[in-house]
Amino acid sequence: MNDEYIGGVPLLWGFTTFNPMEVAVHCRWCLAWHHHGLTALHNAIDYYQAHCYARPEWYDRGYWIRPTETSMDRVYKQSRLARPYEVRLLLAGKTSPTIQRKQAARSPRPLPPVVDWAEYRREKLPPSAPPQWPTSYPTFPDDEDD
Ligand SMILES: [Zn+2]
Repeated sequence: MNDEYIGGVPLLWGFTTFNPMEVAVHCRWCLAWHHHGLTALHNAIDYYQAHCYARPEWYDRGYWIRPTETSMDRVYKQSRLARPYEVRLLLAGKTSPTIQRKQAARSPRPLPPVVDWAEYRREKLPPSAPPQWPTSYPTFPDDEDD
């Protein structure tokens, strides 16, 4: 969980989506993904109006987003999402032990960039010459027994 706050406003990690002008954040208050139009360069923190439907106490102040190069698809499985009946509870301003457990869980966070293994491919070796068979073989003295 990224518990950073700036001036009482939470700071969330932003993830890329298929749309290069969009940033996605996982919201640990309403346990959903919110999408925002990107207004700043990557790694530049900017301020956004909250899309949160759970209406936390900081809702009117919005939140900060720090966009990263990590795609939402890579971290989607790490995100805890509210089930439909949990959404109805959150909309009603209620909670449940399951919701609280999901809210306390670790939020998705940026991953190291994907390694392009093609850059690390072994150097191509020169074509090897065909095997050279010996043209003469060692000779042994004949058996002198007979
Ligand atoms: Zn939210």
